[in-house]
Amino acid sequence: MHRLYENGDISVFWDSDKCRHAKECVNGCPEAFNIMRKPWIDISKAPTAKVWQAVSRCPSGALTCIYNHEVRIEYDRENLRSVAFYADKKIGECDYEENENIWIIYHTEVDERYTGKGIAKRLVYKLIQEAERSNKAIDATCSYAAKILGE
Ligand code: SF4
Repeated sequence: MHRLYENGDISVFWDSDKCRHAKECVNGCPEAFNIMRKPWIDISKAPTAKVWQAVSRCPSGALTCIYNHEVRIEYDRENLRSVAFYADKKIGECDYEENENIWIIYHTEVDERYTGKGIAKRLVYKLIQEAERSNKAIDATCSYAAKILGE
């Protein structure tokens, strides 16, 4: 399971396959990481710095985070894509096609002026999360998205 949690400052990625349940996150920031709650991660419950510190202590790499750089990511169901915006300007997108029970990501692109900020990863994670929430399998012919899926 892949999940993307965002606040105004940061994006937190969680990959359940890597989680060793060491609970460093829970001990470091129980307000944001609470296994008795659903969803168990809610980064709005704690200051960004505290969440960041807890994520950085995850020993397995299941949790990672990046700064948002004022870029927001939206899921666009109608057009089968996730989209990145800086202010109201579209600066990237990740596209998929839908075949019965599987979504295939075939294209990920970020404006070259905004590369190196983790935007492509956020775009891909957004689609993985939406697919999982819709009970769809997900795969990729896009090499970047395939790399994220295979990590
Ligand atoms: S610190 Fe990392 S490995 Fe440990 S429970 Fe949290 S996410 Fe899982």
